[in-house]
Amino acid sequence: MPANPMFWQKEVETLERPALEALQLQRLQETLRRVERVPFYRGKFLAAGFKPEELKSVDGLRRLPFTTAADLRENYPDGLLAVPREEVLRLHTSSGTTGKPKALFFSRRDVDNAAELLARAFCMTGVTRRDVFQNMMSYGLFTGGLMMHYGAEKIGCMVIPSGPGPSERQLLLMQDFGTTVIHVTPSYAFYFADFLEKKGVDPHKDLSLRKAFVGAEPYTQETCGKIEAALGLDVYNSYGLTEMNGPGVAFECEHKSGLHVWEDNFVLEIINPATGDPVKEGETGELVLTSINREAMPLLRYRTRDLTSLIPGACACGRTHRRIRRITGRSDDMFIVRGVNIFPQQIERVLMAMPQIGRNYLIQLDGLDDLTVKVELSPPAFDGQVGHLEELQNQVAEKLRAELWVRPKVDLVAAGSLPVTEGKAKRVIDKRSL
Ligand code: AMP
Ligand code: ZN
Repeated sequence: MPANPMFWQKEVETLERPALEALQLQRLQETLRRVERVPFYRGKFLAAGFKPEELKSVDGLRRLPFTTAADLRENYPDGLLAVPREEVLRLHTSSGTTGKPKALFFSRRDVDNAAELLARAFCMTGVTRRDVFQNMMSYGLFTGGLMMHYGAEKIGCMVIPSGPGPSERQLLLMQDFGTTVIHVTPSYAFYFADFLEKKGVDPHKDLSLRKAFVGAEPYTQETCGKIEAALGLDVYNSYGLTEMNGPGVAFECEHKSGLHVWEDNFVLEIINPATGDPVKEGETGELVLTSINREAMPLLRYRTRDLTSLIPGACACGRTHRRIRRITGRSDDMFIVRGVNIFPQQIERVLMAMPQIGRNYLIQLDGLDDLTVKVELSPPAFDGQVGHLEELQNQVAEKLRAELWVRPKVDLVAAGSLPVTEGKAKRVIDKRSL
């Protein structure tokens, strides 16, 4: 057990900025030396006239071009591997919307280190070895299962590797083994809350749940509040991506005022996605990450496509690693309707702030440029009168128009009638391009 149970590696988590930045530079230099043997990076260094040994500051990295998901696919399966094959301990993949998956390799040290970062995250939310952690994320190629499992084992809490699905079994495990902490996607958290309601189980009274790590897809502050109320627990935002170890890249601490990015492991930049230039501190842009503590497959200036902003100033918890705001969406999630740029999260924010609205929604684009928002009613909101339904439909459409500057068609549907997934939710269906 660490001396202070809220810190796993207190020294490095609270390292003074100059020392933290010196550590970043040292690890970045090591990383550059490591990837020099990868032809893809060697080519980039040559083209940019970049000599790793001349790097004098972390900012010097900006002379190199970005690495993208397309680069990973083009170099599939192992073109970006930086160690001999026999040093690889594990493979994870992440599938995007098109074509081949992105393949990511981990050495023994990489797996262990990813687990250490997660142990930091568990500790800073107050999880201890007395907790029972039910990991409701998919085990397999997706990192959300295995990596989180390894992190929890570092802490020494009891892990129930339930994986996703059947809710009946999840509930049985929670009841019989006293689960206190769960790991879920926001959409599955809602689905599970509905299931409990139908079963007549009141999580506030009948279960021991205290905390949920919620991530893998973007969700708003309003959604977070709804999950907390429905399940009777504290939600902590958990952010990560396979390309950078999986979960545990950034996590909320007990103050829940932004997500600390482990800067001794990742160099972070926030750029304007259109120009590639850094945005001003506090402005929203695309998160770009460089892994500086990876052996098997470090990535330089990787464009995550995730949109966020830096929170200036120090956090009350004492950690010196900077914080980002919750991810508001992906730069490639944006769709355009009648010339207006729209992010699904703008729609979610409006919907989740309305008590009459339930938990699931779907955005459909069809015809020439028609936007339809299908949304479930909250069960007690509908009294059976069609007139009231139309009134509410208009009210939702008006609120959305005020936010988006485009008036969508709104379809209110019965609670539980829209599709749910245990993995990442698919919120936007664009039939315009079919
Ligand atoms: P994967 O590599 O398949 O685990 O997917 C990683 C992607 O999931 C990230 O790049 C984000 O787009 C999304 N994601 C993961 N965690 C979060 C989170 N807490 N908030 C928003 N998006 C997330
Ligand atoms: Zn903090």
